Amino acid sequence: MAKIASRISQLTGEGALAVFTRAKELEKAGHSIIHLELGEPDFHPAAPVVDALRAAVAEGRDRYVATRGIPPLRSAIAEYLKRTRRLDVAPEQVLVAPGCKMALALAMMSLIEPGDEVLYPDPSFPIYPSFTRGLGAKAVSYALREENKFQPDLAEIAAKITSKTRVLIFNSPNNPTGTVFTEAAIAGIAELAKQHDLWVIADEIYARILFSGEYKSIWALPGMAERTVIIDGFSKSFAMTGWRLGYAVAQKHVIDALDMLVLNTFTCTAEFSQVAAIEALRDSTNAVPAMVEEYRKRRDLFVAKLNRIPGFRCQSPDGAFYAWVNIEETGLPAEEVQRVLLEEAGVAGIAGAAFGVEGKNYLRFSLVSATHQLEDALERIQRVSSRWRAAVAR
Ligand code: PLP
Repeated sequence: MAKIASRISQLTGEGALAVFTRAKELEKAGHSIIHLELGEPDFHPAAPVVDALRAAVAEGRDRYVATRGIPPLRSAIAEYLKRTRRLDVAPEQVLVAPGCKMALALAMMSLIEPGDEVLYPDPSFPIYPSFTRGLGAKAVSYALREENKFQPDLAEIAAKITSKTRVLIFNSPNNPTGTVFTEAAIAGIAELAKQHDLWVIADEIYARILFSGEYKSIWALPGMAERTVIIDGFSKSFAMTGWRLGYAVAQKHVIDALDMLVLNTFTCTAEFSQVAAIEALRDSTNAVPAMVEEYRKRRDLFVAKLNRIPGFRCQSPDGAFYAWVNIEETGLPAEEVQRVLLEEAGVAGIAGAAFGVEGKNYLRFSLVSATHQLEDALERIQRVSSRWRAAVAR
């Protein structure tokens, strides 16, 4: 039989989806499930954004458009990055894609050669190592450890750079730990990138979901704009996951390379969603700060109460909407804790190995349910854990 290309066997999926499928099965069988497994906001886009989409469709804004995105959206993104991140970005340095993942794939395809080495954080978004391998390159992890507050260890990164290292990826705030890299960490990464002539892919998808301070992008550091590709989009900050809207920001010659891939693949991102995205960036109802405030309440509630349950330990995340929970002291493997919580308590979380080997003693819970549901989830976790503690004591 004709063969599938070998690069496909190098790719892996996302663990969250397996848990989601099982949780749905249990729900169908009549169980009550609290879904904390997917990284999907429970909010929807603000009303003016939905109105703008309706109007765009009604006006016939449903044509093939410029491959790199409609000019007004590219300008609006450049202006938005100036307003929210103080970045000096020109519209021609922006390319719109259907989702951050697509922008990431375009950037990786444009920068990585077979045989290259790519540094990526562990734990992190599982697509980084998967797609690296799919491109015939070697994925080399650097650890984000609890004893270091999940910050990168610059000495470890330096030691892992070889003559083959071409790209360093990082994601701040990080999925799954919620860590915002310190200014010192970002400056250290920038120095290493300049010293070893590396590209940096900065996945800033959670940049707006920040609980204190101002977002500091590596792009703004001296000498970094020319070697950085920012990946961002609308899925998380504007609760627009299914709209499939993301973008890449880079120097024009890099954007030209990404654009060639767009032309050869999906041609363009849907015109009507791009028109509505301009309204999202305007955020005329202040939906983003209100959403972030709600995530902050959920974080404070979940982390404080979870830390009171014996066996569970969680540092308070500085951004994003995940709780990264150490379960070592339960005495059970994370996969077993995941199973018991789902099957016996009806709480869906993900065993941390889905995000890399450093995640083996952790579970990730997405704080994408209302506070009363989170309180219910915590009570359920408490009940189940006291049952298993009693069983161990017997
Ligand atoms: N990057 C990170 C770190 C993510 O967590 C996600 C989604 O979970 C993505 C990228 C993908 O974003 P999008 O849905 O816009 O493709």
